[in-house]
Amino acid sequence: MGKEEDNLPEEYKILLKKVEAIEKALGLHKIDEIFEDQVESSEDISVESITEEALQIQTRSEIMINPKAYLKLAKHSLTYANKGIPKSEWVEIIGLLTGKIRHEDTPLEQVYVEDYWPVDQGDAVSVEIVDQRIFTEIFNKKDNEHFIIGWAHSHPSYTPFLSGDDFQTHRRYQTFWNKSIALVIDPLMIAPDNYGVGVFRIHRDRKNYYELSCEIKGMSSEACFESINMFMKNKLNKD
Ligand SMILES: [Zn+2]
Repeated sequence: MGKEEDNLPEEYKILLKKVEAIEKALGLHKIDEIFEDQVESSEDISVESITEEALQIQTRSEIMINPKAYLKLAKHSLTYANKGIPKSEWVEIIGLLTGKIRHEDTPLEQVYVEDYWPVDQGDAVSVEIVDQRIFTEIFNKKDNEHFIIGWAHSHPSYTPFLSGDDFQTHRRYQTFWNKSIALVIDPLMIAPDNYGVGVFRIHRDRKNYYELSCEIKGMSSEACFESINMFMKNKLNKD
């Protein structure tokens, strides 16, 4: 582990330090403890069973989000935009998503979002968060099981979509890896029947974008809402 870290580019080490500091400040590391037991064993599908499985493709979401990743993102975004703060002071947050892709280039293809790494918060976060070279390097590290599969940011109270800037940013990410995803969360939209997220990709024509189907793996929107509500109650009482 130590040796691998030594080989990382300097900018990436700085990024990891920043992520660590934000996670610590927001208590996001505690989410790990809650979900440690829930790490799913991957049911591998053999090549022979693909045809049969493909028949059920309608019921499969293109994006599967680990609840741990979702809750970290929701809590990061709610920390900087919630009903306890005047709306004029709400700011966006931004972070990276790591995960894996399964059954790539088959009808069963699914992107698994395994973790969220908070990177920054403030006005106009929709800019390149990291030097392009680093992304190229990380995207090419396909031998590791998990790699950077996209980025996430928040739209407090103005719904998940890609703005003009978001579109430009994501188009660049997709030139590094064309399966890369852009996840947008509106933390004020989170409700018992709504995760408040949208996952997007730029169309092949590079002029339009589309939304991908997604679900939080094994956690209902009610349960997510409940957990987030508890976090917010504690937070508002503390502040
Ligand atoms: Zn945006």
